[in-house]
Amino acid sequence: MSENPTPPAPRARVRFWGTRGTCASPGPRTVRYGGNTPCVEVRGSGGPALVLDAGTGIRALGQHMQRSPLSDEAIHLFLTHRHADHVIGLPHFAPLHARTRSMHVWCGDCAEDSLPSFLATLVSPPLFPAVDGLVGQLLAHDWPEGKAVPVGEFLVHRFGAHHPGEAAIIRVDDASGPVMAYAPDNELAYADQTTTHVEWLAALREFLHGVPLLVHDATYTDDELPSHVGWGHSTTTEAVRLAVECGVGTLALFHHHPDRDDDAIERIVESARVQGTEAGSSVRVLAAWEGLSLSV
Ligand SMILES: [Zn+2]
Ligand SMILES: [Zn+2]
Repeated sequence: MSENPTPPAPRARVRFWGTRGTCASPGPRTVRYGGNTPCVEVRGSGGPALVLDAGTGIRALGQHMQRSPLSDEAIHLFLTHRHADHVIGLPHFAPLHARTRSMHVWCGDCAEDSLPSFLATLVSPPLFPAVDGLVGQLLAHDWPEGKAVPVGEFLVHRFGAHHPGEAAIIRVDDASGPVMAYAPDNELAYADQTTTHVEWLAALREFLHGVPLLVHDATYTDDELPSHVGWGHSTTTEAVRLAVECGVGTLALFHHHPDRDDDAIERIVESARVQGTEAGSSVRVLAAWEGLSLSV
């Protein structure tokens, strides 16, 4: 009997272009994990590019895309919500200016008609200089709760996050099932025992069950949480607890607090790994950094 020496091809490659939450925080204390705000690229074996959020990290992604040989492929941008840290990079996205690709946009907190006007505001004066035809490059789509969007070999699902206003938690599936999930802004609030919240958590566990890669909000430490209840974010401890409960393969801690320096993030990751092991889980825990590329 012979063994096949070739490992199976990855189902997707997930690349992090921005991992910081709330506000960009460049500088010498954040060089390892990065200072740009959320932007994650998901690639399958071919087909269009899938981009999750348009924080300041999307600027470098755009430059990278313009250098790639696939510079005429369609781009599908999914905004979890419209808080500034998740959209502020869009006017600086090079493919938008190059105008060689169609650019489709979905939004997790937009009522039916508000996405086109929001996009127009974002790339127009007084927020951005007037550039002829720029607004027309962005093709806005409705993305109501429960609607899954097909993009190439993937199906993009949404689930309502616990976050001020509204926000989407995104799960990307292929024909074999869930590939990865992305929950950059989500308050798990395990301490909240109200029926509504307990039911929401149960439904969330079901949505994330068995996902190979979970990218989750880990904005706060346990000490910081009591003064930030209701702000829409989770602690590292809560993110690990969720990953263990859902049987996640890899947990990428994300949306790092803008005041958290590299050394502090490394200490947090160490304790998160201990928590996972003590829970009897084999979950792999890491803190996402700018430039990290994971094969799933
Ligand atoms: Zn955010
Ligand atoms: Zn937010």
